[in-house]
Amino acid sequence: MNIELLSRLCKAPGAPGFEHHIRNEIKNELEGLVDEINIDNMGNLIAIKKGTKDKSVMVAAHMDEISFIVTHIDDDGFLKFHTLGGFDPKTLTAQRVIIHGKEDVIGVMGTKPIHVMTAEERGKPAKTSEFFIDTGLPKEKVKELISVGSPVTRERELIQMGDCINSKSLDNRISVYILIETLRKLKGKEIPYDLYAAFTVQEEIGLRGAMTAASGYNPDFGIALDVTLAYDLPGAAPHEYCTKLGEGTAIKVLDGRTVCDYRMVQFMKDIANEQSIKHQLEVLTMGGTDTAALQRNSNGGSIAGAISIPCRYLHQVIEMVHTEDVENSILLLQGCLEKLDQKDWVI
Ligand SMILES: [Zn+2]
Repeated sequence: MNIELLSRLCKAPGAPGFEHHIRNEIKNELEGLVDEINIDNMGNLIAIKKGTKDKSVMVAAHMDEISFIVTHIDDDGFLKFHTLGGFDPKTLTAQRVIIHGKEDVIGVMGTKPIHVMTAEERGKPAKTSEFFIDTGLPKEKVKELISVGSPVTRERELIQMGDCINSKSLDNRISVYILIETLRKLKGKEIPYDLYAAFTVQEEIGLRGAMTAASGYNPDFGIALDVTLAYDLPGAAPHEYCTKLGEGTAIKVLDGRTVCDYRMVQFMKDIANEQSIKHQLEVLTMGGTDTAALQRNSNGGSIAGAISIPCRYLHQVIEMVHTEDVENSILLLQGCLEKLDQKDWVI
């Protein structure tokens, strides 16, 4: 794996609606890999690779990450914030963040110390609204550099742990990585249908970018790439795992917003079996992905499914994926894109 690239992708900030840094990083990486690169009015980056036949497929990987936005600066220079995406408040305790003001400023998430909590307070996890951000700077400096509306992202480096990778923002930079690497593998090769590789914005706050991307290009097929729950952990019963880390790329059957097209699920299974790609099936009963927007916002709908990457500790700063699952996801995506015209898609 190209750890240097993945590390750069995870590090680049991309709060929903503020994706310019990560978008530039992706755009530079795509140079020479595709026929055309477009950025729509909302900020989705669509990289186009022409096919030989008259149909199209959109593969979407959202490039935003769960983040915060400054809502208030108090008289002492402490910041209050709103969350952009589904945070579990307990994961905010003692975190470092970066406030993207006139300059990037490091901050820490603070709450009431345990020493002064009442017995009742000790028994309850802190609510998001009880946290504040402390920059350590004098209030005048805070007000000079930061304003209401400044986006805030998490600060945490990528590390390798055995065959696993641990970082912030693997949701969904691991999919951004997979899509870029698949385009690299397809370089110089013919594919049957036009490929719209869509790096979408604002997924974490409701699949907003993918709606625009799908309606802008009206693909016949849609494949979303995103992480999924791997709860193969102490305390979990086997029926709660959803997926297991290291057990292969996950073919989505459904999530909270989409029932994947059964033809697409079967197609992915067939490709994985034919090419001996280690895979598992994913039924995620909560949460949504860009799959929903691809399926329903293309004019007349698209035949949609998703390739998911098992991930532990989702939406925390220490998300973890297995390198083999990543490699298998690239293989499956490549196989699907090369063979999309080989199936009889009759309903
Ligand atoms: Zn995601």
